[in-house]
Parts: sequence; structure tokens; C-alpha cells
Amino acid sequence: MKTTAKKQTLAIAGGPKAMTKDDGDIFHWPIVTKADEKAVVDVLRRGAMSGSDITKRFEREFADWMGMKYGLAYNNGTESLRAAMWACGLGAGDELICPSMTYWASCTAALGLGAAVNFADVLPKTLCIDPKDIEHRIGPRTKAIVVVHYCGYPCDMGPIMKLARKHKIKVIEDVSHAHGALYKGKKVGTFGDISAMSMMAGKSFAIGEAGMMVTNNRDLYERCMAYGHYERTGLPTNFNPVERCIFNPELNKFAGLPLGGYKHRMNQTCSAMGRVQLKQYDRRIKEIQSAMNRFWDLLDGVPGLKAHRPPATSKSTMGGWYAARGLYRASELGGLSCAKFCEAVRAEGVPVCTPGANFPLHLHSVFHDADIFNMGKPTMISFGQRDVRQGPGTLPVSEAIHDISYGIPWFKRDRPAIIKSYAKAYRKVAEHADQLMD
Ligand SMILES: *Cc1c(COP(=O)(O)O)cnc(C)c1O
Repeated sequence: MKTTAKKQTLAIAGGPKAMTKDDGDIFHWPIVTKADEKAVVDVLRRGAMSGSDITKRFEREFADWMGMKYGLAYNNGTESLRAAMWACGLGAGDELICPSMTYWASCTAALGLGAAVNFADVLPKTLCIDPKDIEHRIGPRTKAIVVVHYCGYPCDMGPIMKLARKHKIKVIEDVSHAHGALYKGKKVGTFGDISAMSMMAGKSFAIGEAGMMVTNNRDLYERCMAYGHYERTGLPTNFNPVERCIFNPELNKFAGLPLGGYKHRMNQTCSAMGRVQLKQYDRRIKEIQSAMNRFWDLLDGVPGLKAHRPPATSKSTMGGWYAARGLYRASELGGLSCAKFCEAVRAEGVPVCTPGANFPLHLHSVFHDADIFNMGKPTMISFGQRDVRQGPGTLPVSEAIHDISYGIPWFKRDRPAIIKSYAKAYRKVAEHADQLMD
């Protein structure tokens, strides 16, 4: 006997909500145990918030976990990215290539260095930088490419590294969305010349206001140290034996003062918590992966909705699935707008279902008009750069982000009944999209 799906009335049209389950702790994050509390309180009782002893241990452990030689801790991810840019030689009149679809901190510090940002588009399936939209942007002043493993999706590092090597420019990986994600079986953040990332409270590796830089390149490591870690420049320690700047003896005579005038040290309540969190992190993101894959498997084949995750056969993973998104194909739902779809899913009891992701940065006025050096000219062109500013219509995928993506629940625990209920809400709206057309 052929069974046909029972017709239901969407909640937005007065029907009952699909979401009937209580969330419980399924979204609660980070998971804080007695061990975290003890580590943090110990720092407070010792008055050791501003030291570096615990932080250096955390750096070593984090770099080991990544499989990298050097780790350097930051007061936030934004500053780790600024230091990485400077370490790669980005300076006044230079250019940085960065995807338009990312959080502003991936590239905005470039302006503060007097450099311009040449924005590239992203791929509609991955929301990561399109490797084919990079090479034609490389000019004589291009120093580095920032790649962002967007919402956990690993960038296609193979072709990107090939291009960068060919043109002798550096690759900075922004790992803020993707701690622990794998690209073809290997951790993201280990492919480029240098990686920087946020560890702020909302990220999947969440320890407060914090960031981390990792690299295998001693020169880049020492430049980062010299830029904003004043008390560690030129000082030997067991953990970071920077007894001298071997690649750049010039920097050594500046020991004791930060070349950037920045102070980048991590608060040790964060590094103490980081050491505890790191021990549990692999296990915890395994549960996230199981939960998120369960959600998408339940929606497999539903018209209009596509998972934002690498193919199961690819040996690539989404890490902790930070800020999880879904992909939308209006053409499969009779042209129903993503905004309207989301509104109906929210009415079913899913508040996180909002259209879009980040604001496409290439359209923001800061990258067109802001004159941050008071030079009477926008900073994007004030140091003699080519004018690489781009207006509406230039990066079509990034500009369509509100039509092609939407929020999905970011489950931290694998609780099948609750996950099923959320999946039902998305499925219900997609399968009854005709009720939303007028
Ligand atoms: C969060 C984030 C940052 C900035 O990190 P903070 O710790 O908030 O300074 C940088 N890049 C991306 C992609 C981010 O999402």
C-alpha cells in the first residue's frame, strides 16, 4: 500500500507547532566542570591572572594537539589575526586577499596596517573562499591570502596552497570557526604558513576572550612575539626558547618593547580553562558531529534544503560545527524566498532559523570610505595601492547569502528525540511550501 505524507497545516497558518520537545541542555556551551572551576579559581587565588606560566603550558599543549611546532596565545582572536598579518609582512600599500563572507576580524586589521583588502567570493556549497577567484586578484603588492573555514567547513586547501606557493605569497588560516575540523584527514590550521583563531565564549573551542596563533615557521613565530608580547621577546624559557631572533637579529635589539605597540597577552583564567577544555574537546566535538550529522541525515532528500557539510567519503569534517548553517535552493521550492521559509520555520518553534550568515564585507563602507589615518583619502587607497574596492554585483555568491543560507540548531549533545523534532520542523515547512506561496 502506498502511503502519502499526511497534509499538515503550517504553524504560521494557524496549525500546531512542529517543535514539541524541551531543549534541556542540548545547546548549553561551553561545558564547564569542577575541573574548569578549580583551574580558574586557582589562578585567581594566586593572583596569577597576568602571568604567562600557565599560558605557556597551554600554548605547548594546544600546538601539540594541532600537530604544530609553535603556539602563541592572544587576548582575543582579532589580535592573533592582526599579528599574523604583520608577521607575514603586510604593511602600508600592500594587499591582502580575503573572502567577503566572513566575520570582520578576518581582515579588518589590514587597514590598520595601511594595507588594502581585495575581497574574493565564496563557493555556494561550502561558503568558503572560491580557489578560482584568487589568482586574478594577486598583484605585485599582494602579501597574503586569508582563508576562513567558514562555519566549520574546511576550505579547499590543496589548490589554495599551490597558488600561494606559485606566487610566493603567504597563507593565513583563520580557524575561528573550525577548531578540530579535518581537511582530507588532517586538521585545518596546519596547511597554511600561519594560523590564527578566536577562542571567545561563543566559539566551539570556548574559553573566554582569547585567541591563538600556531605555525611551524620559526620566523613568523618570533615576529608575532616581537609584535605584541613585549615581556617574552628575547627571553629564554623552557616552553618557548626564544633566546634570540635567529631569523631576524634586527628584532632582538628591540627586546622588551612590542613593535606594534600592542599588548597581546592572554588572561591566565582563560589559559587555565583552555588546558582543561582541551582534554575534553575531541570527545565533545565527536558528540556534536554525531548530533549534527543525525540532523542532516533526517533531512536527506528534502526539497530545497541541503546540508552544509563535506561529503561523508571525503575524510573532511566540520569540527565543532560553529554557527551551523543550512543551504537553501529556492528553485526546488517553487521560488519560495529564503526569508519566508525561515519565518515559517521560526513559527514552528525554531528561533535560530534566520536567513543569511555574515554581512558581505566588500560592501561595507569601512572598505570604501573610511580614512583611518586622517590622510584625506580612504585608507583602502591612501598608501598608493591599486583601487581594489568593489561595489554591489561584484561578488554574487556572498551578496546572495540571505537567499542561499539559514541558521540551523547547533546541537552540543546528541539527543535523538529532540534532534528529530527540530528536523521535523524544517521538513514540515519544506514539504508544505505551497501553503506559503500566494
Ligand atoms: C570570532 C571571529 C574572529 C575574532 O575573534 P575574537 O576572539 O572575537 O576577537 C575572527 N575571525 C572569525 C572568522 C571569527 O568568527
